[in-house]
Amino acid sequence: MWERGFRQNQLCSCGAPFHECLLWKFVVERIRGTYGTEHLFLEAIRSYDQVVSCYFLPLMQVRYSVKDETLFEARKLLHAIYEAVDEFTNGRVILDSSKTSAFAYLLAPSSNVNSLFLHLIRDSRAVVFSHQRVKRRPEIHWTEENMVTRRTRSVAINWNLQYLAPVLLYRHTHKRLLKVRYETFASQPTAVTNEIKRFLESHAFLEPDSSCKTLSPIYHSVSGNPIRFDREPQKIRLDDEWRQMLSYRDRRTTELLTAPFLLHHIRRIEKDARGMDK
Ligand SMILES: [Zn+2]
Repeated sequence: MWERGFRQNQLCSCGAPFHECLLWKFVVERIRGTYGTEHLFLEAIRSYDQVVSCYFLPLMQVRYSVKDETLFEARKLLHAIYEAVDEFTNGRVILDSSKTSAFAYLLAPSSNVNSLFLHLIRDSRAVVFSHQRVKRRPEIHWTEENMVTRRTRSVAINWNLQYLAPVLLYRHTHKRLLKVRYETFASQPTAVTNEIKRFLESHAFLEPDSSCKTLSPIYHSVSGNPIRFDREPQKIRLDDEWRQMLSYRDRRTTELLTAPFLLHHIRRIEKDARGMDK
């Protein structure tokens, strides 16, 4: 939000540049007003960026690279974002699609924010292939730019960290975390959606037996998959192009580097399939 939105003024998924989006404009001004000076406000953003870029934060309880003071400032700013969005949306449920577990680590201990966490996991080979795809970045509105492709080893190692993080986060979030496997969701979307619905109901986020309405196609997402700019409802389908397109070498490298967790993931998908077939 701060780097791509606040500093670079990239497009929000609603179609407006960040500083012209009604939601983000409100949020920035509301938060800015809570800091005494612009310098303090910018310092808080710096702390926030430092912490959320630390992908393995939940794994490193020792937090060797992050000072307590930085962590405190980052947490304070994240809470301020939630409070401002809450005010703008009149207390509606906020769906935050932030991907790294550092956000959950920062948010979980709060008694001010009533939060639940959903961990979406996908086969490491599919994730590696996804990072090799060349895609336009529609949010860069002043020039043509593609998403940065990433090296197989780096994606695979990061995938391991992200796979492990929820194990520690599970206790840290007071068990308010649900794991969803991408492949199970794509093949059985109704069953998984019902599972998520039950999870929300059990924590009083939804009334029992309430109907799920289709989300408005316009929402306010800064940074992420270009698909968020599509206005048409998305059809859920399994994307397993990697099975044909990922090179033999990258496939084997990924399997080698992610072996224990990948095997665990595959077994869980098989178990999901058996459970949902019953
Ligand atoms: Zn917007």
